Amino acid sequence: MSASTVINSTEPAGSSAPPAGRLPWWRREPLSIVELADALHVAKFGRRGFDPGRSIARMVELNATAAHVFPLGCHLDGNVLLFRHHSPGDPPPAFDYLQEWLDLSRPVGLRTVVYFNVHSVKAHHARRHPDWQQRRIDGSAKENVYNVESSFCVNSPWRNWVLDRLRELCAYPIDGIFFDGPVVFDDCCYCEHCRRSFREQFGSQMPPTDALDHEAFPALVEFRSGSLANFVRDSRNVIREFGDELLFYVNANPLYPSRIHARDNRKLAEHVDILASEGGFLGGDLMRENPLWKVSLNAKLLEAQASAAGVPHLVFDCLTHTPWTSYSLPAAEATLLWASSVAHGAGTWMSCYRDAMDRPGLRAIGSLYQFARQHTRELFDTRSLADVAILVSDATLNHYRGADVPQTDLAVERRNIAAGNVTHELYGWYSALWSSQVPLDLIDDRCIVDGILDRYRLIILPNSACLSDSCAQKLLEFVRRGGNLIASFETGLYDERGRRRSRGALDEAFGVTRAGVGISPPRQWDYLFDHTRPYRDSPLELCVPSPTCALSVRTDPQAQVLMTFSAPLADRYVDLAEDSGQAAVVRHHFGQGQCVYFACDFGAALRAWRIPEHLALVRDLVWQLARPRLRIDGASPCLEVSLRATRDGRSVLLHLVNYDGGMTRPMQRVLPLHDLTIGVRELGGIRAAETLRNPRRLSVAADEPWTTIQLPRLDEYEVVRFILETEQKPLELG
Ligand SMILES: [Zn+2]
Repeated sequence: MSASTVINSTEPAGSSAPPAGRLPWWRREPLSIVELADALHVAKFGRRGFDPGRSIARMVELNATAAHVFPLGCHLDGNVLLFRHHSPGDPPPAFDYLQEWLDLSRPVGLRTVVYFNVHSVKAHHARRHPDWQQRRIDGSAKENVYNVESSFCVNSPWRNWVLDRLRELCAYPIDGIFFDGPVVFDDCCYCEHCRRSFREQFGSQMPPTDALDHEAFPALVEFRSGSLANFVRDSRNVIREFGDELLFYVNANPLYPSRIHARDNRKLAEHVDILASEGGFLGGDLMRENPLWKVSLNAKLLEAQASAAGVPHLVFDCLTHTPWTSYSLPAAEATLLWASSVAHGAGTWMSCYRDAMDRPGLRAIGSLYQFARQHTRELFDTRSLADVAILVSDATLNHYRGADVPQTDLAVERRNIAAGNVTHELYGWYSALWSSQVPLDLIDDRCIVDGILDRYRLIILPNSACLSDSCAQKLLEFVRRGGNLIASFETGLYDERGRRRSRGALDEAFGVTRAGVGISPPRQWDYLFDHTRPYRDSPLELCVPSPTCALSVRTDPQAQVLMTFSAPLADRYVDLAEDSGQAAVVRHHFGQGQCVYFACDFGAALRAWRIPEHLALVRDLVWQLARPRLRIDGASPCLEVSLRATRDGRSVLLHLVNYDGGMTRPMQRVLPLHDLTIGVRELGGIRAAETLRNPRRLSVAADEPWTTIQLPRLDEYEVVRFILETEQKPLELG
């Protein structure tokens, strides 16, 4: 595949932006939203706890474009509806929070978005409306949300209550509505409204939410996500009655199985103005459990899903060091949360509690939001120039046996110990690539079906076990035309509903046969033998640790076996390891392209151990198969990059995010990197280069085929803008 093919690839359907004159405010201005939560203050002290003047002044100092405000309190409570309303049975407002806020915010140009919690309800309020509560399969009401609260069902009459409140809120001169949630909880909802609706649609009883093998389980997944999307659709229709300048967005799904909370981002994206998720909620044990690169992981997936629907994407970055609601993260962490979102084209929402508004974490946001105002087009009206994409398979997350649910504000962490844990596999491949400064995107199953593969040279399938026939067909065609695949473990062995295939859907491209093979007993102290290099006396000279889970596959005669497994050892001191001859890594030419297949959970090994030879193998393969357009000599593995182009194709932006905090989290300061030599190629002629955050001109040197620049120092974050030759045509980006 030629470079021009990659550059000239087209956007997904529906992504063409309307002319600038008709753009709504959230497309004209940077999405730089601040939330200084005061709901608990108002709940405790009433009007005395409300200080809009101080909050608004602080937000203006921070260069925010919009604020989240709390006229409905935080979690739903009929006693706290602090706006003009006619909610049956609920008291009139003690004071008009919303009007008082708007009287002060509008004159200073700060936009107002109303926070509307649609997932958590105070217990006393929920018990006044038992007919609205989400219910478990045994009929009991859901009453353990945040341990002590409940939740209402989107299919119950509560839906009409929400729509009525939206009409009342939109009668104020606000700029938007944000739904925190909505959600159907993972053990819900079996209320009479849901049961009846499911029976009418599918003609059967609802199966349990954890019955993955039940014949009606796909219908249940469809029903739950459809219910939620319809609720969002109907809410937006009400908001649209009040004009096109009212923003509406919801809390969509971060990177975990969408069936858990029924939030299918592809469905939600059709009914919101921005696709956003809590990708920047990192709390608790930051050092071991919550690396900062998870933010970019979420931002990239959101971008793929949002751009297909033609809407911007945004990451919710929480400055609170959860679970301590009144305590905030240091300035370096705040800066990196913002940078790892914006580096991937995402707007940001930064939040903390009102009492933390003068702490260093929030203070750091001021200069970042000023930067966003100065460079709106370069930061937000761009698209990725990555040559590599990693598949996040929604079908696999939802229907395969192993996936984790990370801790977020809404989700309780769940770890899955099943072999082939797809979360571990994804994290391993992702971290190996970003820490090698490979520009990369994330894509989902729909991206493949929609036909965007040709913009990439290499697709990575991290145990993408469940693939539909149409996905598999598109991938095979991609390789036939000259694209390349790296895949691991059970990729393609199941269909999109999790049913085992008689033969792997991509086996002919991988050059293997996996019919009837099972997973070997765990390899706890075994090895991989490298067959690509000569050894002097024994293959043990070149052996490296084996991943834990392996498949026994047969290889085609034309396939090249790069690595084999050692014969299983009964224990690590029993004997010297010997070559089993069983293929572990196989390279195969198929059509014009190539596949490298790992018959093991190699990504899980990358995530867990970071063995130098494993990382080097990945780097070498990616350089051979993707020929990335970016090279950074001597870079730290803490450096993440994002290579993007403005939509007019006239500038190329390189975002550099430095996560080097000296082995501490939360980071109190970032250790600067010095004297980076950065090379780019295949971007057209480059006339000049400059840094945007710390403005300076950089000297440009030609070193065919590379164009190189020197960056003397990098602190937390910088953007290099490459200015293309005016004589040349700008990059065509579709
Ligand atoms: Zn229900």
